[in-house]
Order: sequence, then C-alpha cells, then structure tokens
Amino acid sequence: MYSYCVHVIMKCRYNVTMLTFEITTINKKMRSGVIKTSKSQIQTPELAIVATDAQLRSLPNEALEALPSSYFIVNTYHTYTKKIISPIEKAGGIHAYMQIPDRLIATDSGGFQVFSLGFGQKHNIGKIVREEIPASAGMTDGEDADNPLFITEDGVRFQFDGNDLELNPEISMDLQHKIGADIMMAFDECTSPLNSYDYTKNSMERTHRWLDRSIDAHRGHEENQALFGIVQGGEYQDLREESARVVGSKDVPGFGIGGSFGDFQEALGTTVGWVTNHLPPEKPRHLLGIGKIRDIFSAVEQGVDLFDCVIPTREARHRMLYTKKGRLYLRKLKHLEEPIDSGCKCQCCLEKITTKQLWQWFLVRDLRASTYTTLHNIQFYADLMREIRESIEMGRFNELRDEYYKYY
Ligand SMILES: [Zn+2]
Repeated sequence: MYSYCVHVIMKCRYNVTMLTFEITTINKKMRSGVIKTSKSQIQTPELAIVATDAQLRSLPNEALEALPSSYFIVNTYHTYTKKIISPIEKAGGIHAYMQIPDRLIATDSGGFQVFSLGFGQKHNIGKIVREEIPASAGMTDGEDADNPLFITEDGVRFQFDGNDLELNPEISMDLQHKIGADIMMAFDECTSPLNSYDYTKNSMERTHRWLDRSIDAHRGHEENQALFGIVQGGEYQDLREESARVVGSKDVPGFGIGGSFGDFQEALGTTVGWVTNHLPPEKPRHLLGIGKIRDIFSAVEQGVDLFDCVIPTREARHRMLYTKKGRLYLRKLKHLEEPIDSGCKCQCCLEKITTKQLWQWFLVRDLRASTYTTLHNIQFYADLMREIRESIEMGRFNELRDEYYKYY
C-alpha cells in the first residue's frame, strides 16, 4: 500500500480550477481520496443522496444541511420536465435552492430518465428499454409509432404530459449550466440489458459523439462546473473497454460509468473492472445509479470513487430500514419497543423512537414516519461509506466487506 497526491486539474487544457481530486491511499485498485472545490470538500469513496427534483420527498430543504451526507445528485430530467429550472436560477443556483452551500452537488445528464424512466412510464416496464429502434437508427431517424422516444443523431424527442420535449447534448449542457451543480454529466444514451450487441455498439459510438458535443457546449464554463464523460457499452467486454479508452482520452476532469452491468451479482464488479482498467487512474470515477451494499463493495474494489442511489431514501419511505445486521422491514406483529439501532447517531435513534412507534406512524400515514426512517437510512449509508474509507486506509477492506456480507 502506498499514498500519493494527484491534482487532476493541472492536466486539463482549459485552466480549470474548480475541482481537484487527491488520492490519499491506494490498495490494489481501491482508493480513498478527497475531492475539493472552492466551496466543498468530500472524502471518497462517497455515495450521493438523490434529490430527484432538487429536493427529498421526506425532508424539507431546510433540513438537508444537518444531514451527514457530503454529496448530493439532482436529476436534470425531473427538474426539466417539472419546470423547476427557473426557480433554481432565481434562487441563485442549486446550492442556494437546496440550502446546502458547502456540499458537493452533481447533476446527471437526463439521459437515464429519458431513455428508461420516460419509456417505462409509457409502457409500464420500469427501467427496461425495449429495443424498438433498429441498430442502424444511430445514423438515421428512427421513428416508431409504438415508441414514445424518437432517437436521432441529434438527440432524443419524447412526450411528457402531452408536451413534445427534446434533449440533446447542447440542451442537456444548457440545463445543467442553469442548475449550476459542481459536477455535470455529459449527455449519453443509457442502454438496457435487452439491447443487442449491435444496438449497444451503435449507441455507445453515438454517446461518444455526444460527449464531444457536450465538451464543446461546456466551453467557457470549466471554471465553474466540472463536466464528467460517461462510459457506456453494456455488458460487453470489448465495448466497455473501447468506451473507457475513448472517454478516458478526453480532456475532462472525471468520469461517469453508466448503463447495465449484466444479470449476476458478480457481473457488476467484473464489468466495472473492465472500465477502470482503461480509465486514467488520477481522475475520479462515479458509478451512476448503483447503491446496493454488495455492489458498492464490488465497485470500490475495482477503483470506483463515487456513487449515487435512491435506495436509502426510497426504501425508507417503503418501511425498509438498514442496520449492520441486515435490513429490517417494518410490518405488522414485528414492531418492538426499541429504536432501530441503539448504536446509530441519527435523530430517530438518538430520540429513541421505537420501531413500534414508526410502524404506528406509517399505519396512520403520519409524515414523521418517512422523515425519521429517511434520516436513519441516510445515516446508515454515511456510516457505511466512512467505514469503507477507513478500511481502505487501514488495510482491512476485506474484513469489513465480509462483515457486511454476512447480512447483505
Ligand atoms: Zn438511526
């Protein structure tokens, strides 16, 4: 094990000064480090709390400052379709709007939601994107009467609430500039496991062209916001490696890793490993939309620094609580006169709110239920990430992983 420091931005062409990444410990491919901006400083690996439309459902923005999380991510698609961009601009940017001036905030490109959620809403198939468009559609207009998405080389058009909307690299950059987060993601197409090799390859190549257009559209903003390029390529090794090489060669200060990673638990670590083998080691890597505990350990082992996932907040609202001894699902006949976890430092556990009380609140739809469970799950994930960082620094990552794997 050894330590070294790298200031990524010094290597960039455009005199960017807004984000630095310092790797403090490396053990095999794992690393812990520090990301700094003029306003914020976070320790990595870290997981971003998802503030879908620039807020959490169970907590008002006035409460975010007190959370133990140092990193947040906002969905560009939701702020766009729900017309929240203008209020964010009027507030003076996303940090002021969310009332967390010194936290690191990222925005995604909008690509994931428009290609998966937008589609799923229409066809009720969740995150799966049907392969409606022929592989050649990457080069030609792919109109399809059954598909609410119209994907072309320029971008994608879709319907939301009866309105025709459009996203492409230039629009995505413009929206993300208006939101004003520290980290932005290049516009990409997120493919699904159902997509064929040919479709995934064509889509990946188009995503690379969209990255060049995103970089062009971002010129002049480099000192205020860091643009990450996104690696795609599905579950195919040659595509993942090619995408990592192409995206890794671009003059951007960090990378997102998106898309699908195969069906099996082991597949995620393997696929992420193909990517990280070919990305410049000195720049931060954000694994998009991944946050299951086993996946976090697998990806950290492969050199991932950043994550984001709705699990802590969404599952809290659905009565699923995280503890060191596994998940606790609040349901009838199971409630106890004890807090969720007596060792936890969240407000819910410190106030000794019992699981019985939480269950009763859920039963009568008292909003305190999801507020307290959200606070608890966020604290759990903050503690998990801190433990992972410490375990990398102390050379006991495998022991920590094995402790968690007993219950997860
Ligand atoms: Zn707690």
